[in-house]
Amino acid sequence: KIPGQRLPLAKYGGRHTVTALPGDGIGPEMIEHIRKIFSFCHVPVNFEEVQVSSSLVGVNDLEAALLAIERNGVAIKGNIETKHDDPSFKSRNVELRSRLDLYANILHCVTIPTVPSRHKDIDVVLIRENTEGEYSGLEHETVPGIVESIKIVTREKIERIARMAFEYATLNGRKKITAVHKANIQKLGDGLFLKVIRDMSEEYKNIKFESMIVDNASMQLVSRPQQFDVMVMPNLYGNIISNIACGLVGGPGLVSGMNIGSKYAVFETGTRNTGTSLAGKDLANPTAFIRASIDMLRYLDCHYHANLISDALWKTLVEQRVHTRDLGGQHSASDVVNCTLQNVEKIMEAER
Ligand code: ADP
Ligand code: MG
Repeated sequence: KIPGQRLPLAKYGGRHTVTALPGDGIGPEMIEHIRKIFSFCHVPVNFEEVQVSSSLVGVNDLEAALLAIERNGVAIKGNIETKHDDPSFKSRNVELRSRLDLYANILHCVTIPTVPSRHKDIDVVLIRENTEGEYSGLEHETVPGIVESIKIVTREKIERIARMAFEYATLNGRKKITAVHKANIQKLGDGLFLKVIRDMSEEYKNIKFESMIVDNASMQLVSRPQQFDVMVMPNLYGNIISNIACGLVGGPGLVSGMNIGSKYAVFETGTRNTGTSLAGKDLANPTAFIRASIDMLRYLDCHYHANLISDALWKTLVEQRVHTRDLGGQHSASDVVNCTLQNVEKIMEAER
């Protein structure tokens, strides 16, 4: 359950319209899998597809995507590749999140039985500030060899992410929030982050509050991840900590990630990989994308279909162990999808 959840803007003839941004790499084939599953399950959702790709230079594709999301309220998205070597090329993913003010990135990392992982019984929710901090994109070379990278944090945005974390915890029966920071070094910036969240914790007496320095949090996460319940983090630490957490429960192919703002919501995979080397081979694990589509259905209040797809996927992964290579299996992405559809059919038959 997401605090302050808004109903989507677009619903015509009983059907939602959502924007689909396939992106690069494995994105397009993953969106095809989602389309196939949705149409098989008669999910009342139409897709408005907009191509945004790093290779479409000079095309106003990002503006078209933003317009479509503003119109529909909701999107599902693959990653858009960002080149590292061209400083003038800004990440379109970052730009999209900041322009839509998708201030919270929320991941739920849970171990799945039969999926190999280094630890058992992990169940942690990661809530990451998604628009400011190190991602402000303000960098310049003052004189050759000297670069300033500006990290901006504001009380207003810290309060917003902190509120999201406490409200999320309250709404979902969570017991503890850990604020991750480096306030011993970044005394002002991370100091403010910590202070704002600690002050707010006074309003939530039923939720235990603790803080942890990011280096220790990383170590604790890989050695004793079960101690964590909800983690709230500034942008860059949140990125790194979420990747550690996703790695712990089985890798980039499994976990979904929600980008939530006060108006719009965009659903992605948790680690936002492009998966360029896997593209077109039917090898990438479709689970993270399928779970992103389930998150989206829950957001749209389509709970029947969300549960149907979620139960069918669970049977595929856990009971039938249809695992792709990243999980040590031999199955293709299509095998996972087809098996899930067969399970949907069985569940629907059992209901009749
Ligand atoms: P790339 O260099 O292709 O952009 P990424 O950075 O996107 O790779 O992904 C990092 C790693 O995660 C790669 O080894 C990639 O193969 C793997 N990976 C990403 N997505 C998936 C997926 N859905 N299933 C399995 N492996 C994945
Ligand atoms: Mg990549």
